[in-house]
Amino acid sequence: MCIIYNPMNKQASLPNNIVSAIHSVVGSGRAGLHEPTFSGNEWLYIKECLDSTFVSSVGKFVDRFEDDLADYTGAKYVVAVVNGTAALHVALLLAGVKANDEVLVPALTFIATANAISYCGAQPHLVDSDDVTLGIATSKLRCYLQAHTQQHGGQCVNSSTGKVIRAMVPMHTFGHPVDIDGLLSVSYDFNIMLVEDAAESLGSFYHGQHTGTFGSMGTLSFNGNKTITTGGGGAILTNDVTIARRAKHITTTAKVPHAWEFIHDEIGYNYRLPNLNAALGCAQLEQLQGKLSAKRELFKRYQTAFSSVDGVTLVTEPAQCHSNYWLQTLMLNVDQIHHRDAILEVTNNFGLMTRPVWRLMHQLTPFANCPRMDLSTAELLSKRLINIPSSPGLVDFFE
Ligand SMILES: *Cc1c(COP(=O)(O)O)cnc(C)c1O
Repeated sequence: MCIIYNPMNKQASLPNNIVSAIHSVVGSGRAGLHEPTFSGNEWLYIKECLDSTFVSSVGKFVDRFEDDLADYTGAKYVVAVVNGTAALHVALLLAGVKANDEVLVPALTFIATANAISYCGAQPHLVDSDDVTLGIATSKLRCYLQAHTQQHGGQCVNSSTGKVIRAMVPMHTFGHPVDIDGLLSVSYDFNIMLVEDAAESLGSFYHGQHTGTFGSMGTLSFNGNKTITTGGGGAILTNDVTIARRAKHITTTAKVPHAWEFIHDEIGYNYRLPNLNAALGCAQLEQLQGKLSAKRELFKRYQTAFSSVDGVTLVTEPAQCHSNYWLQTLMLNVDQIHHRDAILEVTNNFGLMTRPVWRLMHQLTPFANCPRMDLSTAELLSKRLINIPSSPGLVDFFE
């Protein structure tokens, strides 16, 4: 199919109307999808870091960043690591995920979630999403597990593959909290560990509690496009002191403390966040409230602009949740999905960076043969969702 779009054609059409609505909010210039802003103590802390010579894996900013994150999220323990994928890898290992296990993961997620499962030698088992939260569809999952699994010695076994379903990794899509209470009860009823991929949801709360603090562990990402950035970085959140100690140990090459000897008591990982990145993180975290306010204000402005555009709605935080609105998202009405590619093309031609949702996991070569349930909602969502410019800097609204 060939899409012909003529920008001189002023006739109302959905792609045209979307361009106008975005322009009315972000101005007539270019707009990236999510650009970081550095308007606090970044230079100061990084200079301090350089002056101290502690730029690498030891230094006061790593400890401070972990403490600040614990204060903000309410998690008892935080272990900072090199990126969100490494955080997921370690969290899954500590949840007991082993070779030949299966791990439930939404088909609609960024590939890092499924990759981390593979790093453990386990297989992603793809589950469907809900069209309100955009996260795992709880009751559909429960029915599926009832029909397709059996309990053996306190473990959940996939009846068709005979493999243990060890864990599930719900993800808070674009910052919107998933139905975590519902999933915790599935996790409890079926003996499946729950690790939250909260990479996108720093600043998002479910019934007043920070995302990433519900499961046995949660993980964050501080990649350049996330709500706050350390350049590259991630963190593991947990309330369990044993898990926290294990996480710190295996992310720091499993080195046993000693004044001079190099003793490592297992095969660990070099996943520790460098002090230099943590310094950036401390400065960014000081500005989190301002960024969140700006993102919420941006959402409100888009909501006003799109209220008069037929055929599309803005994704809104689920009931009783407070979302960070990491990425602002348009949802096309089902009868408008044939416009998706034209909308992407026209907006990007105008320098308005928009993106479709990630290609679903089972539609990617490495995960094409993963076990999966019916994924019809995720498949429809992938045709309906478009992320639009979401940088906090698009709103002049810093506290
Ligand atoms: C960003 C992200 C991650 C982790 O990404 P890193 O780039 O490794 O920090 C994991 N899961 C999801 C859903 C993400 O969006």
